[in-house]
Amino acid sequence: ERVDTFDYVIFGATGDLTMRKLLPALYRRFAAGQVPDDARIVGTARSPLDDKAWRERARQALGEHVNDADSSVVDRFLAMLRYVSLNGADANAHWDGLRSLLDRDDRVRVFYLATAPALYGDIARNLDAKGLRTETSRIVLEKPIGTDLDTARRVNEDVGRYFPENSIFRIDHYLGKEAVQNIIALRFANPMLERMWDRQSVDYVQVTAAETVGLEGRGGYYDGSGALRDMIQNHLLQVLTVVAMERPVSLDADALRDEKVRVLASLKPLDRDDLGASVVRGQYVEGTSGGKAVPAYNDELDGEAPSRTETFVALRAEIDNARWRGVPFYLRSGKRLPRKLTEIVVQFRATEPGLFGDGHPGSRLVIRVQPDASVTLPLFVKHPGNGFALEEADASSRLDPGAAGGFQDAYEGLLLDAVKGNPALFVRKDETEAAWAWVTPILEAWQRDEGGPDAYEAGTWGPASARHMLQREGHAWAEDAAA
Ligand code: NAP
Repeated sequence: ERVDTFDYVIFGATGDLTMRKLLPALYRRFAAGQVPDDARIVGTARSPLDDKAWRERARQALGEHVNDADSSVVDRFLAMLRYVSLNGADANAHWDGLRSLLDRDDRVRVFYLATAPALYGDIARNLDAKGLRTETSRIVLEKPIGTDLDTARRVNEDVGRYFPENSIFRIDHYLGKEAVQNIIALRFANPMLERMWDRQSVDYVQVTAAETVGLEGRGGYYDGSGALRDMIQNHLLQVLTVVAMERPVSLDADALRDEKVRVLASLKPLDRDDLGASVVRGQYVEGTSGGKAVPAYNDELDGEAPSRTETFVALRAEIDNARWRGVPFYLRSGKRLPRKLTEIVVQFRATEPGLFGDGHPGSRLVIRVQPDASVTLPLFVKHPGNGFALEEADASSRLDPGAAGGFQDAYEGLLLDAVKGNPALFVRKDETEAAWAWVTPILEAWQRDEGGPDAYEAGTWGPASARHMLQREGHAWAEDAAA
């Protein structure tokens, strides 16, 4: 359905995220009839552009990133775009230009901060000081919120001084993904699964987010971050909370997030003694990707001294509560792995041995987030003929995020949720901080550690130590289990 009309103000309007994700997502919702023609999208950045020049860049971006763009719809969409050249961090900048465009206080206003996070506090202060924040304003913050617990708190405090928490929308686009939201449906709409969702029945859980790409020219950013900050602290821990949370009393934003934050608070701290056994960091050396030879991380980076930044992390998390105590949650993410793949595997315990031979494994539920969203829960059936040899009946359901009423990209739904004022699929302050509280000691231990990441050849599933971490417990990563 159509949303109420709005003014969407994007800070960082000339950047990669705006061009590749935000404008295409808003365009698709516009083309689907959800965005009223009198809505406005106001871009701001320091670059001295005018409306026409920004629209031209937007047209080009839509051409590149939207397959089925219709030129007459694109023209109508571009007519909604305005540009104001503005340094968002500077109180003396041309805020009047923005104020004169935002002349309708009765509309929902969304301020989308797609700049470096170091500017978030200053932009929030200026929005407030210039009288641009209205009762129905929301502010959307892109990741990363900080680089450790202290800096995350500071960003939250700085923005929270000017915007109430219920108007702060911290975006984690993994929560916008159809397959991730499906975990909630699968768990709570299927009694069979709901009753098996605990330590009695689940042997272990795996979450993998694998990329084939290397640095893609974003080395400066990535080298200051690494896989733990870039992927685990936010996306993978968010997935873990949805897999592990208790049944929320409703799907309202705070009911849902109350349960998620409880999971984060119950994560067993990985103290220094555990660390070696529970956390593996890796960095790729030269190898192959898609059949082509590719350089080592350090050569791609081309820095002066070799970098110790991890391009791969595998870790063993444990949730210290009645439902999950003792069940390992293995999380891993890396660059230059063999396949682009995001997947959750719930491995159920094996049945009592004997009847069908000792080697008979337990069932596994696989929730594939990308490339093709799907849910697979094979049932064991008897192989036709004599005897009781078992085989897996194919039981795969394709999820179709792009189907009518759905979204081609996770940003689409989230951008409109911000307009509607529904933060259920956004990350609350206490969630971000609980996730950082768990991750920060790992970062600190790495800093003290004289060693560096374990090397892995580009195009492989990370260092051998990641495989050993599971083997020690009689478990295996999905690709090893399938082999
Ligand atoms: P980017 O390409 O470097 O763009 C940064 C944008 O900020 C540019 O439009 C820049 O334009 C503007 N800007 C810089 N300083 C400014 C200032 N003082 N006042 C107003 N505008 C200013 O960065 P990006 O890749 O789009 O990323 C933006 C944010 O999203 C970052 O926080 C990043 O971590 C996050 N993020 C990005 C991605 C992604 O895929 N790109 C994914 C997840 C999160 P001017 O130079 O013209 O001012």
